[in-house]
Amino acid sequence: MNRDGMDEKSIESILTDLKSKDTPYERVLSSMCTYPHPVAVMAHAQFIEANLGDPGLFAGTAEIEREVVRMLGTMYGTSDAHGHITTGGTESNIQAIHAIRNARNLREPNIIVPESAHFSFDKVADVLKVTVQKAELDSDLKVDLSSVEDLINDNTIGIVGIAGTTEFGQIDPIRALSDLALSENVFLHVDAAFGGFVIPFLPDRNKHGRGREYEFDFTLPGVTSLASDPHKMGFSTIPTGGLLFRNSSYLNRLSVDTPYLTVASQQTLTGTRSGASAAAAYAVFKHLGRDGYAQIVHRCMDVTHELVARVRKFGIEPLIDPVMNVVALDVPDCKQVRSELAKRGWIVSITRKPCALRIVIMPHLTSENMRLFTDDLCDVMRTG
Ligand SMILES: *Cc1c(COP(=O)(O)O)cnc(C)c1O
Repeated sequence: MNRDGMDEKSIESILTDLKSKDTPYERVLSSMCTYPHPVAVMAHAQFIEANLGDPGLFAGTAEIEREVVRMLGTMYGTSDAHGHITTGGTESNIQAIHAIRNARNLREPNIIVPESAHFSFDKVADVLKVTVQKAELDSDLKVDLSSVEDLINDNTIGIVGIAGTTEFGQIDPIRALSDLALSENVFLHVDAAFGGFVIPFLPDRNKHGRGREYEFDFTLPGVTSLASDPHKMGFSTIPTGGLLFRNSSYLNRLSVDTPYLTVASQQTLTGTRSGASAAAAYAVFKHLGRDGYAQIVHRCMDVTHELVARVRKFGIEPLIDPVMNVVALDVPDCKQVRSELAKRGWIVSITRKPCALRIVIMPHLTSENMRLFTDDLCDVMRTG
């Protein structure tokens, strides 16, 4: 660290230089994050010093967090959700399995996740010492139910379903998993880190407010917990994750006494926690409302369908018809194609198995820049 303090202007100029090295989102086709909504940024700045780790000192911020949890709960089919704001899907997944592990208290516990599960479940295995078994996928890249059934044994404490897989944007058969969880008496955690702010707003909604085929939340009786990230398609600021439990007994399994705080105990993984995240989520939920989110999701889906139609003309097929705004394109030599695209300034990612070119159509990607992208993609494919 420098000994003498620097003036603000010089620091600002250094930061501006460094920031110019970051990739602008307009060229990023690989991320599930995007520009936060300006209203979220405003609220974040207003609550910058608020620490939800010590909620007695920040009664108003704590009220905001309770309201965010309540709003998320009603979005996911329960008027009585119990949970808190986390730093994101990873922390939510860790704490959900942590609660299940503590509730079951077996010597060698295991859980079953789809092969398509996010790598945060590898962290779950490492941190919690829970064996994570991976179930196979079917030809639609949804978890294969019989594979899950085959893996359940006496040490199984829970199963995980993904509502919006990171790589393929696919939704596991959560109703069937819910039935299985009930009949096997195990917990069901739904990882809707990405899909939580997409699925409820997809077009072609019937009179119940969403496509019946995409039931994924607490309306299904076997679902015990759910992760949904406002900092992805919720347009809140980073870090804002959401972790919800069907009832408080699970959350209480995470309680730790906190003698020197204004409250007696804490159930969160982190101690000091951002109140700014809570305020940002609250503000953007209120500002956009369900219709605002639906409009944005519909626009992303339109761009997604345009992209797929365009690449199909060049003989490129998606692995599955897009369910949400994530597409995996079946291109030969996808690693090579990825690096050729990078030379042209496009950041795409690839999937693990099968290897495909993965594109997340976030709201920062317009029809126009996706047209430029598909032209470059087709050019790369032609010229090799
Ligand atoms: C993004 C994602 C995660 C991890 O969330 P972070 O906020 O990056 O920790 C977990 N699960 C799924 C399905 C995701 O898409």
